[in-house]
Amino acid sequence: MTHVSIRELTKVYPGSADPALDGLSLEIPTGELTALLGPSGCGKTTTMKMIAGLLAPTSGDIHFDGRSVLSEKPEHRGVVMVFQNYLLFPHMNVADNVGFGLKMRKVPKQEIDHRVKEMLELVKLPDLGDRQPSALSGGQQQRVALARALIVQPNVLLLDEPLSNLDAHLRFEMRDLIRGLQQEMGITTIFVTHDQEEAVVLADKVALILDGRLKQYGPADVFYKRPVDEATARFFGGQNFASGTSDGSVFKSGLGQLKLPDGVNPGPGKLTVRPENIRINAGENMQNSLQAVVTERVFLGTQTLVKLQVGNEKLDAIANPNEVENISVGDSVTISLPPSSLWVLST
Ligand code: ATP
Repeated sequence: MTHVSIRELTKVYPGSADPALDGLSLEIPTGELTALLGPSGCGKTTTMKMIAGLLAPTSGDIHFDGRSVLSEKPEHRGVVMVFQNYLLFPHMNVADNVGFGLKMRKVPKQEIDHRVKEMLELVKLPDLGDRQPSALSGGQQQRVALARALIVQPNVLLLDEPLSNLDAHLRFEMRDLIRGLQQEMGITTIFVTHDQEEAVVLADKVALILDGRLKQYGPADVFYKRPVDEATARFFGGQNFASGTSDGSVFKSGLGQLKLPDGVNPGPGKLTVRPENIRINAGENMQNSLQAVVTERVFLGTQTLVKLQVGNEKLDAIANPNEVENISVGDSVTISLPPSSLWVLST
């Protein structure tokens, strides 16, 4: 049970001009699951290694429950890190792998056996204690790695892309398992991923890192409704941006004059609306209704992407396939951009 406070954490690798991580500050409350989200090379693993004590920061600090841990050795921090390639000991069977941390702590054998059995049940591998890691599937190895991490009841659990080597079906199962165990045990957990969907599904809060800098930190829905800038909106699937000016209640752009929700500041900016919030074939008297021409439609399986032209502006809309089955390329349609779905990014 540990509150993790990351303060202005910076890492410049020797010989490198740019920081791999630049002034990251995050407060991670006890028992929460936070996702560090970002594209490859943005500094996620560097952050995890500094929290684990495997890498020294260039500047900044890390506090656990109010005390700096920078001078503490990795083994004294109570942090366990699970890597994406599992790293099980190949010469030990599953039970010995899971019990390893307890053996190192000189826990009596009888208690180790009991806790290993309990842990294997929790990760749903009750009968595999005698197997060698080489005789396990990737998903099973990942569960053993998780069991081995959790059995020592760490203060902080770090998961570095733990699902990236698993196929889609196993990924769903592991997500549920990780979320369930994390909530049951209440362990403060930091989870690295480049997959925004995974971050959204698993995390209490998401920290989006781009080019070594924190862009935004908060509950997942805020990234969809109130992204801080265009790069953040794009990372979460935002595709529609129109430059213009707000007078505080109306936004003027190539899309015409659109009524804004309350709370938008006056001034120049970029209007954004998520593809799934554009209503197609909305009634003429809906708020913010516009005439658009359909330029393309792409069937995505459970949804249809409809590309639209409004004057000189382009918009992408995502709709339920049933709702747009009678719409063809070249059709003129009435669309509506409900004021509550609009958001203006400052430029
Ligand atoms: P990925 O998702 O691909 O694992 P990441 O977000 O975890 O990426 P990091 O591994 O933290 O990114 O790397 C951040 C930056 O630091 C990258 O530009 C990387 O090339 C650089 N870097 C990482 N490790 C070292 C190192 N030991 N020496 C020099 N540069 C490094």
